[in-house]
Amino acid sequence: MGARQSRNQKRSVAIVDDATSRIDALASLDDAAVAARARTLTAGGELADPAEFLAVLAVASQRSLGLTPFPVQSQAVLRLLEGDVIQMATGEGKTLVGAMAATGFGLMGRRVHVITVNDYLAARDAEWMRPLVEFFGLTVAAITEKLDAQQRRVAYASDVVYGPVNEIGFDVLRDQQITRRADAVQAPADVALVDEADSVLVDEALVPLVLAGNQPGVESTGQITDVVRHLREREHYTIDDDRRNVFLTDAGATRVEGALGIGSLYDDEHIGTTLVKVNLALHAKALLIRDIHYLVADGKVALIDASRGRVADLQRWPDGLQAAVEAKEGLDVTEGGKILDTITLQALMRRYPKVCGMTGTAVEATDQLRQFYDLHVSVIDRHRELRRFDEADRIYATAAEKNRAIVEEIVALHATGQPVLVGTHDVAESEALAEALAERGIDANVLNAKNDAEEARIVAEAGDLGRVTVSTQMAGRGTDIKLGGADETEHANVAELGGLAVIGTSRHRTARLDNQLRGRAGRQGDPGLSLFFVSLEDDVVTSGGSGESVSAQPDDSGLITAKRIQDFVGHCQRVTEGQLLEIHSQTWKYNQLLADQRIIIDERRARLLDTAQAWEELSRRSPERAAELADLDHPVREQAARDIMLFHLDQEWADHLAVMDDVRESIHLRAIARETPIDEYHRIAVREFKELAQRAVDKAVATFETVTIDADGAHLADEGLARPSATWTYMVSDNPLAGGGNSVVSGIGNLFR
Ligand code: ADP
Ligand code: MG
Repeated sequence: MGARQSRNQKRSVAIVDDATSRIDALASLDDAAVAARARTLTAGGELADPAEFLAVLAVASQRSLGLTPFPVQSQAVLRLLEGDVIQMATGEGKTLVGAMAATGFGLMGRRVHVITVNDYLAARDAEWMRPLVEFFGLTVAAITEKLDAQQRRVAYASDVVYGPVNEIGFDVLRDQQITRRADAVQAPADVALVDEADSVLVDEALVPLVLAGNQPGVESTGQITDVVRHLREREHYTIDDDRRNVFLTDAGATRVEGALGIGSLYDDEHIGTTLVKVNLALHAKALLIRDIHYLVADGKVALIDASRGRVADLQRWPDGLQAAVEAKEGLDVTEGGKILDTITLQALMRRYPKVCGMTGTAVEATDQLRQFYDLHVSVIDRHRELRRFDEADRIYATAAEKNRAIVEEIVALHATGQPVLVGTHDVAESEALAEALAERGIDANVLNAKNDAEEARIVAEAGDLGRVTVSTQMAGRGTDIKLGGADETEHANVAELGGLAVIGTSRHRTARLDNQLRGRAGRQGDPGLSLFFVSLEDDVVTSGGSGESVSAQPDDSGLITAKRIQDFVGHCQRVTEGQLLEIHSQTWKYNQLLADQRIIIDERRARLLDTAQAWEELSRRSPERAAELADLDHPVREQAARDIMLFHLDQEWADHLAVMDDVRESIHLRAIARETPIDEYHRIAVREFKELAQRAVDKAVATFETVTIDADGAHLADEGLARPSATWTYMVSDNPLAGGGNSVVSGIGNLFR
């Protein structure tokens, strides 16, 4: 791969040099002629002359946006067009690169979804890049949460569609519920161009998006919560080293059984029901910590999006866990509704014939991108050399000593006027630090759970003279930090002081997330500094190094400088990276089968929607009934048959998902020595799915024979077969990988594996 990689790189560099030399020749052409040239070069859906085409794009960018692409940007465009994930550092101008590549795909007749991590960035980038796309007579639009169905339909018909990954996924789910093709909002897309590709394709790939409908919700867990509330750690339950699992001890089980007045929790009667609820309540009590994993605001539990450290408005945990946390906090248990359909981001990406992407930290995700998506990484050089200085970690024996040192360091840096950006791991930590700084007379901007636009402003100001910004996860925030802020005259002053100083309050579970944070300093050849603090009590050290003991002699302040300890911290991080990859692969295997099954359902659905197959099948199964309907107009009876078939197909699929969810939760209890859990899970999934299709048809035939069908169609509601009158969407945050922070990973991983 190394050889292939460098061959590709050399070739792209040569093409880009060639492109640069051709730009002048295009100067004499007017806009229309430049656009026409692009059309000629892309006629037939292939790139006739890549160098000439890049020159055309550069000229168009210059004229429409006032930005002349740097050679490295043109090179990145080429790699994207070939379907790679490009690594380009923060601030190198990936927005322009993505738009040029998207325009290229668009000119070749392919519809592109430029996938962003949030609404704000989708809208910002679409507006910013609009002149470039429109220069060529192509159309561009952004999908945002507030658009209604008709507005979405119009937007999705554009050549280049910017959209946040969750909205695009929700639209896929909603389009899977329609019974007439004209109701669909999405138009087929050929290419997904993913910004912050490692966040979307790796960190959040396993997060399911959920579509739910109004039907009876979850039952109360009140009594179990009360019992579990009084259990004590070590006596009644134990927590494993990496704080990802909690186990009931024998004494704990006995106590729960006594309090609930039941026999053994492990009896068949309780194992899939009471025991599951007890485990959920125990997870909620022991592993999910208020202000780290969630906030309580306005009488509601608000999840903290672990990878971005902010409130995740539309996220819920799986229903049982959400209810357990709500019960623990003494809140009203919210209705879960009936889950109609779910899709993971991974499965969402598989719907695109071609995927490419861009991020500042792709290299560290090379294995995952290849293993899970068969994607290659191309590293793009910086436009200007990196002048950031990365200091060696400062390692302390205890967290208290570390925290003291962090405050001292910030105070010292701040005294020089250098802007400081501090990356913390959770909301609680960011607030504690801001308070400590306030006591020292430093008024820090705290960035954790705000809306995206406000957040973008705070991030943009983080490079101002004398500014201290305390943030939770910086990954995927997508806003540029300019030295001196918007005021360009300040740039030189701040650069003189050393540029932006980035401080990490502990290492993340992956080096990639460390680098995301570091990458905020030293953009576009600016000076900058990065420095991470570590204590031997940090989660990444205790869980990555569990079982290993190290000893070292700290100095008076608790600082340990031994090289051996530096290496040990690196080792611990590699262990936690390995653990995450393992969990990822496991979860991936579980998801894969359902993803394959959903493709079969999609195909079946599409046939039922677009052909008269529903009517043909039902009339074959029930010729007498078909004869009774002979007088009806063909379109009417075909639509009636379609409504009936789709209703049962969708319902069976939703039931299948629910069954498989239960199986997943209890698979460790079911798979007794005989088989591995994953094999057992597969066996059940295949068996259930086989019966699903047949059952859906049988039920449709029964409905076809009994339901009233007249000129108004099939009266399904009369038979209690109405579709939900309201639906809503959310993301389930049961993904242990969603977190990059030290503590965020704990808690919910194992239950759903
Ligand atoms: P990234 O997404 O790679 O972190 P952005 O796309 O947000 O970077 O761009 C960072 C900054 O660089 C923006 O202010 C943008 O206007 C500027 N920029 C990008 N490309 C160019 C260019 N070719 N010439 C001048 N400025 C550029
Ligand atoms: Mg960006």
